[in-house]
Amino acid sequence: MNWMDQELELLAGASLERTLRISKPVFESTGYMVRGERMLLNLSSNDYLGLAQHPAILEAMREALFTEGAGSGASRLVTGNRLPYSHLETALADWQNCEAALVFANGYMANSGVISALVSRGDVVFSDQFNHASIVDGIVLSRAEHARYRHNDIEHLRMLLHKYRDKRRKLIVTDAVFSMDGDHAPLRELAALKREYGAMLMVDEAHSGGIYGNRGEGLCHELGLQNDVDIHMGTFSKSFGVYGAYICGSHTLIRWLVNKARPLIYSTGLPPSIVAGISKALDLVQIEQWRRERLSAASRLFRSTLSDAGFNIGCGDSPIVPLIVGDNDKALRFSEELEAAGIDAVAIRPPTVPDRTARIRFSLSAAHTDKELNDAAELIRTIGFRLGVLNP
Ligand SMILES: *Cc1c(COP(=O)(O)O)cnc(C)c1O
Repeated sequence: MNWMDQELELLAGASLERTLRISKPVFESTGYMVRGERMLLNLSSNDYLGLAQHPAILEAMREALFTEGAGSGASRLVTGNRLPYSHLETALADWQNCEAALVFANGYMANSGVISALVSRGDVVFSDQFNHASIVDGIVLSRAEHARYRHNDIEHLRMLLHKYRDKRRKLIVTDAVFSMDGDHAPLRELAALKREYGAMLMVDEAHSGGIYGNRGEGLCHELGLQNDVDIHMGTFSKSFGVYGAYICGSHTLIRWLVNKARPLIYSTGLPPSIVAGISKALDLVQIEQWRRERLSAASRLFRSTLSDAGFNIGCGDSPIVPLIVGDNDKALRFSEELEAAGIDAVAIRPPTVPDRTARIRFSLSAAHTDKELNDAAELIRTIGFRLGVLNP
């Protein structure tokens, strides 16, 4: 095992080692967290709508815990499929206005399981270079050809669709909002290309579900494209504040996945209490439009403040705001200085993002106030000058 120590030393030397740290939630102010003894403004959470500590969700989970028990006891295909599952899947299909829905244990398993169930050797998957790792792993697992197109580059995708036009099945897959850049996929253009080339289209709404659309259905609905998407994926771990994932689509798709998606078949279903908590979160996501409005106002404010200060924050409009630093070590120092100033925001380094684009990734929540965000932006500016990310 000596090789491991040597490789780890190399990682540490390049400021690329990752470590696990303990964070604690603050129930009375969900925009914060506690690390060690200190309360920090939490600008690293995916709890976009501030639902993770919502009393109604906790109560629904507690109730189901005492009627259904701690675990579901088996795969859903054996005896693990409990009533809360069918309630949730009916509500999901209604919310997404689609024929059917299927709950997975998490987004990673949904993406890896669904892609590997849809394509295999002799097929091809067209995937944006910045797609989430769970999509990439699904493609590897499927053994289909991986045609990776440059980020949001429709012409490059068109060229690859042409090149692989004779493959058996074709799947185009994209994040709706990209997790490290916070920008959108060109969904209209992707829908047009999928029709032109007879491909299937899969969209991952992990960072857009709950945030876009009148009832939080996601970016596809906001753009009126829900009928162009064959496989609609989203998670309950981010905007919903809970855990788990869903696939929405046709009856046929769901029937296929129940028979072919290995993470569904060969793994124990989510605990029923989690599923009941998700159902309550789904009610809140649909009804409490004010959370989406607050989040959107917070994103606009924070983005314009950082960009006016002269930072490179990319070109998105989502609550994910990347502050591009470039150098790995400098990104790490930026994050440490932010923590010293009372703000938690993680440094994201390669291989999660391309070389020389290390960044601080801020993610905002409906729980953050304008004052908190303005004060944070002022501190970020001061540190930016000190580290030479901004020039006077
Ligand atoms: C977080 C994320 C996932 C994985 O979801 P989990 O439920 O956390 O496993 C999948 N896709 C994207 C784009 C994500 O950001």
